[in-house]
Formats: sequence, C-alpha cells, structure tokens
Amino acid sequence: MKDRNILDTVIEFEKQLEAMQQQFGAFKQFVAIMMEEQQALQTENLHLRTRLEEVLSKQTVQKESTEKTSHTDISEGYDNLARLYYEGYHVCHVHFGSSRKDEDCLFCLAFLNKQNV
Ligand SMILES: [Zn+2]
Repeated sequence: MKDRNILDTVIEFEKQLEAMQQQFGAFKQFVAIMMEEQQALQTENLHLRTRLEEVLSKQTVQKESTEKTSHTDISEGYDNLARLYYEGYHVCHVHFGSSRKDEDCLFCLAFLNKQNV
C-alpha cells in the first residue's frame, strides 16, 4: 500500500514535469516572437528616423531657395526700375513714370542708389 502511494507520487510528479515542459515551450515561443517584434520595431524606427531627416533637410533646402527667390525678386525689381530710368523715365516718387526729357533726376538717382544697397 505504501509502495503504491510512492508510485502514484512519482507518476504525479512526472505529469507536473510534462506540464511544466509544455509551459516552458510556450514561453520559449513567446520570447522568440517578442525578439522578432523588437527587431522589426528597431528596423522601422531606424527607417522613420532616416525618413524624418530627409524631410527636414528638404524643408531646409526649400526654405533657403525661397529666401533666394525673394532676394532675386528684389534685385529683379531694381533692374526693371534702373532700365526704366535709363530709357528716360522717372522712377522717383516725385515724378514716377513721367519722361525725364534727357535730364538726370537727383531724386531718381538717390532712389536707385538706395535700392542698389
Ligand atoms: Zn525722378
């Protein structure tokens, strides 16, 4: 009777070991999935960082070219006014658009000098 109990205990213990082995297998799978997901997230994070840097540097380039464009607009405006003056018209506020009649105008020259700076 006593031996029978010991055998039962051993069988019971074996069952518990098998159950633990199954649980351990499931846990091992879980760890493997977690490691895979971590790897995927690291790769995605790296990809997003690279993409973000690209977008940010592109914005900087666009901003710089916008500033250059507005600078070009100003000097183009100056060129147009200077051309208008040398074609014989006032560009000063006093006589703007009227003919200089081949006379230099100090207001025009002062205005063009100021624009040229
Ligand atoms: Zn003038």
